[in-house]
Amino acid sequence: MKNSVKYLGILAVALSVTACVTDKKTDASASNIEVVSQTPIRSILTAEEQLKMSPDEIIGRLKKGNENFVSNNLTQRDHSSQRRLAMIGQYPQAIVLSCVDSRVPVEDVFDLGIGDVFVARVAGNIENKDIVGSMEFATAVAGSKVVIVMGHTSCGAVKHAIDNTDAAAMDMIALQNLLDEIKPSMANIVPETGEISSGNVRYMNEVIHNNALKTVLDIRTASPKMASLEKEGKIKIVAAVYNMATGKVDFI
Ligand SMILES: [Zn+2]
Repeated sequence: MKNSVKYLGILAVALSVTACVTDKKTDASASNIEVVSQTPIRSILTAEEQLKMSPDEIIGRLKKGNENFVSNNLTQRDHSSQRRLAMIGQYPQAIVLSCVDSRVPVEDVFDLGIGDVFVARVAGNIENKDIVGSMEFATAVAGSKVVIVMGHTSCGAVKHAIDNTDAAAMDMIALQNLLDEIKPSMANIVPETGEISSGNVRYMNEVIHNNALKTVLDIRTASPKMASLEKEGKIKIVAAVYNMATGKVDFI
């Protein structure tokens, strides 16, 4: 195993070097050839890297990655070589549970590439058995040390839950069940100003915030295994909200 990891590292360096050389050839006529060829190309995570990172270190890396996203400075990646390396195995650092919203590109939001992160998605980033099963696999089996439940501003699922949309009346029973899962996040939130409606942005953002936190609590309850891993300090389960306008992720 150790040897294969070592081999993986050597292969990663070799492929990165090859990629640099290829870039150089491709851009031989370009005036900015030096700048292009000196840009570091990120390889994929190895078992050793995954093992030595603490949950707090991983959260720090993800925050830094989000800064890169906000400043439009994403890491250059050779997806072709990353894809080939990833055939050997995966050692992702985290699992992110996100809403399905097409405006939340999870990997980009944290400046991550192939093999870096598990992503689970469901409208309104709620918890259910299959999601928790996936998280147990990611943490207890595959070695990820951080679970992030990431809500987002302007969430359509939260909006319809707040506005009490009657999906069942439109023959969408499954969607109704999903909206009903979000509704408890509205309990105990009294708008400081304005009414209980998705048009009240401040109120809506509080519910989005609360919904991410509620999912974290639901995960701990649903998975004794993950709750105990967290108590032992081996993993962290945290809530966050992605701001659609700024690109920034606020960890709660
Ligand atoms: Zn959403």
